[in-house]
Amino acid sequence: MITSTISKRLSSQSFVFTRQLSTKLPLSVTINLPNGSSYQQPTGLFIGNKFVPSRQGKTFEVINPSTEEEITHIYEGREDDVNHAVDIAEQTFKSGVWSKVDPIIRTNAINKFAQLIEDHAETVAAIESLDNGKALFAARGDVVLAVNYLRSVAGWADKVDGRVIDSGSSHFSYTKREAIGVVGQIIPWNFPLLMWAWKVGPALATGNTVVLKTAEATPLSALYVSQFAEEAGIPAGALNIVSGFGKIVGEAIATHPRIKKVAFTGSTATGRHILKAAAESNLKKVTLELGGKSPNIVFNDADIAKTVQNIIVGIYFNSGEVCCAGSRLYVQEGIYEELLEAFKVAAEGVKVGDPFAEGTFQGAQTSQNQIDKILQYVKIGKEEGARVVTGGERIGDKGFFIKPTIFADVEESFRIVKEEIFGPVITISKFSTVDEIIEKANNTNYGLAAGIHTTSLNTAIDVSNKIEAGTVWINTYNDFHHQVPFGGFKESGIGRELGTEALDNYTQVKSVRIKLD
Ligand code: ADP
Repeated sequence: MITSTISKRLSSQSFVFTRQLSTKLPLSVTINLPNGSSYQQPTGLFIGNKFVPSRQGKTFEVINPSTEEEITHIYEGREDDVNHAVDIAEQTFKSGVWSKVDPIIRTNAINKFAQLIEDHAETVAAIESLDNGKALFAARGDVVLAVNYLRSVAGWADKVDGRVIDSGSSHFSYTKREAIGVVGQIIPWNFPLLMWAWKVGPALATGNTVVLKTAEATPLSALYVSQFAEEAGIPAGALNIVSGFGKIVGEAIATHPRIKKVAFTGSTATGRHILKAAAESNLKKVTLELGGKSPNIVFNDADIAKTVQNIIVGIYFNSGEVCCAGSRLYVQEGIYEELLEAFKVAAEGVKVGDPFAEGTFQGAQTSQNQIDKILQYVKIGKEEGARVVTGGERIGDKGFFIKPTIFADVEESFRIVKEEIFGPVITISKFSTVDEIIEKANNTNYGLAAGIHTTSLNTAIDVSNKIEAGTVWINTYNDFHHQVPFGGFKESGIGRELGTEALDNYTQVKSVRIKLD
């Protein structure tokens, strides 16, 4: 059905292929899931509560990273599709059917949206594993987190308020928080559904309308769940999805003169580019959740067995494709050898492979680009002189699988210690004093997260106070809750997601001052 490649475009790291189908792509295709069931996958752009073909009719291939086979094609948006989506989103915003209604209407609609997703939870999880390569248990967890978050922000919709300010008897002054307008959202491929929820939830709860771009590698779950918007009571045009590539759709969103805010999750390099594009177009407001190289610190008094489990979750969960992964492990010298031995045994026990197989903890890396990048870093690490304690190689030649990898004997100057790898690769080194570990932990441009493992409350609080990171986990790791804000210090981002902080990103303060006679 597919004619040969007709165009090649340079993406950030490699060529991606845009194909034209010889027959028109239907707006819904049947996809068979590895669990034996099948479902209908929408393929169109989602604009005005309808799936529509892209204006130029181009499509792109979606790959199953576990088999490297094609799952389907979907429609690929271009700049004209972004303009169309912005027109519709703007009309909806200005009409007031979403932005100006009694907020309890938004509460009810978002709650119903969450319910409809929950009703289809097993299908959504399977789509996520199929498209992203993550283990099914992790995808199921993502659906729970996404649904919980939507419910949480639904409850905030009618609790956005301002202040009455005592500014003397000659005036009456107050503030109110208003929606911003059409917001653009650009999400990554490591948590496609969850990032959709983190972005769409607070934007819709506060009355904005949305034009969202999914990552080109993982567009399926967001399209699937968006089909429930209308039934949930989200008005046409409040939520729009334009699938496509970063350099085209992403760029069009970041530079669009009528998009008033852009929220992005992805690499620091792309975030920097988006910030510039936003500044140079219309100074749209920007929130960024970017990369990390997070330290995970183990003190002599830590419980070794529990800590090893936390380290495993910190680096191998989601195949290491986690912006806040605990990828730099520092162990105090008194327990270094014992902990390394226990960690090696545990890492070798991590079940890697088919995301749908019982017991799989680490699935496939999400794309060819990503596995190439990780293997390149493994090579760099070996060349730098680091010792491979375990792993360090690809598994099989079909599917993007890599062994959980530990590098020891590393120096702070090594690239594998400094640069974000975004895969199941960790470096381990020794420290002796608190001063030394604070210096090492903070010796990075990133500041997304950190882990501390100790049974001393004093050490935990003292070290967490000194760490430059947006989140510090103590005796746990990669441990999220929708009420707890998340975001980066330094070059790991601007703004916070989750918690009440996320809502602030999507409202602007209006001050009203009335002169009294
Ligand atoms: P990676 O390089 O690991 O794919 P990115 O940060 O580039 O990570 O990707 C995250 C998201 O940013 C994806 O949706 C991608 O399409 C988008 N993106 C990539 N380049 C740009 C760009 N120049 N402008 C806007 N969005 C982009």
